[in-house]
Amino acid sequence: MKFKWKPKKLTLVIIPDANQAVVRFRIPHLFAYLAAACLSMLLLISITIYMMHAHSLKQANDLASKLSGANEQWSATLTSKDAAIQKLQNEVIQLSQQAEQMKSKVEEVKKLESDLKSIAGIDPEPSNTAVASSSARKDDQQPTDANEASTGMGGSPNPLSDEMILKLGQQTLASLNELDGQVQELQTNLTATKEKVATKQQQLRITPTLWPTSTKVVTSPFGYRSDPFTKIPSYHSGIDFGAHENDPVYATADGKVVSTGKDIYHGNNIVIEHSKGLRTWYMHLNKILVNKGDSVEKGNTIGLVGSTGRSTGAHLHYEVLKNGESVDPKPYLKSLRKDDN
Ligand SMILES: [Zn+2]
Repeated sequence: MKFKWKPKKLTLVIIPDANQAVVRFRIPHLFAYLAAACLSMLLLISITIYMMHAHSLKQANDLASKLSGANEQWSATLTSKDAAIQKLQNEVIQLSQQAEQMKSKVEEVKKLESDLKSIAGIDPEPSNTAVASSSARKDDQQPTDANEASTGMGGSPNPLSDEMILKLGQQTLASLNELDGQVQELQTNLTATKEKVATKQQQLRITPTLWPTSTKVVTSPFGYRSDPFTKIPSYHSGIDFGAHENDPVYATADGKVVSTGKDIYHGNNIVIEHSKGLRTWYMHLNKILVNKGDSVEKGNTIGLVGSTGRSTGAHLHYEVLKNGESVDPKPYLKSLRKDDN
């Protein structure tokens, strides 16, 4: 039997309205299959494209969302950085103001050191540079007393440029370096001054500057006089203080008691050595309150006023001996009170 391919046909019937004629199409089966395959392919491609598009769209949205988030973050970071820079700039300004204040304080300390030297009698000439700069500064300064000045401020807005801030920072650094040098110099000077003051204080402690009695009445000064007993011209080797019986007698400087004793001329008497070659001698005492070898401090009570020995009445005969020779005690008598040096 011979196979004979006979193409099958499909009939498509289109029925418009009821009154119109029916339209028929007869198409081969193969064509129908091809059309169906093409349609399916088209559908598949459309679906694929649609899915790809949807995917891309989603990715684009995600990216946009991420970008927006990053943008916000950067904006926040920038704002925060701007604030930090502004804060730093204000701190530079504050630092420069503090450096200026430090300069003033250093000048004040220099002046204090100079005053201290003057008071201690180390360097009577005040430091001209310190005083001059100090007074010049006072002229320049605006009133800063919080009680007198109000807190009002104003003026046109003149924001500083980056260059100005940078320059201010550099100037402040230079000022601080200069201050550092000045403070170090001051430290050295103050240390030296402290040592000088300590030496001076020690010298003062062993120099008989104190009055030996509370009374300042001098009944007979140092030098030539008519002898109170014989009335013949004589030499008075000390000062007589018209103190009352049993008034305290003070050591006129720190020292060591080198002798105590009694004889017909000096009565009860005490000799104190203050430094090599410098001694004081207290005579006619009613009572001796120290012993030989005792260490005494300036102002300690060492005895009581009396009239023992060659004396016409209660008084203190006081002598200052330099290398064994009596000298006028008057130039030594500087301090009125025990706690003065
Ligand atoms: Zn005398």
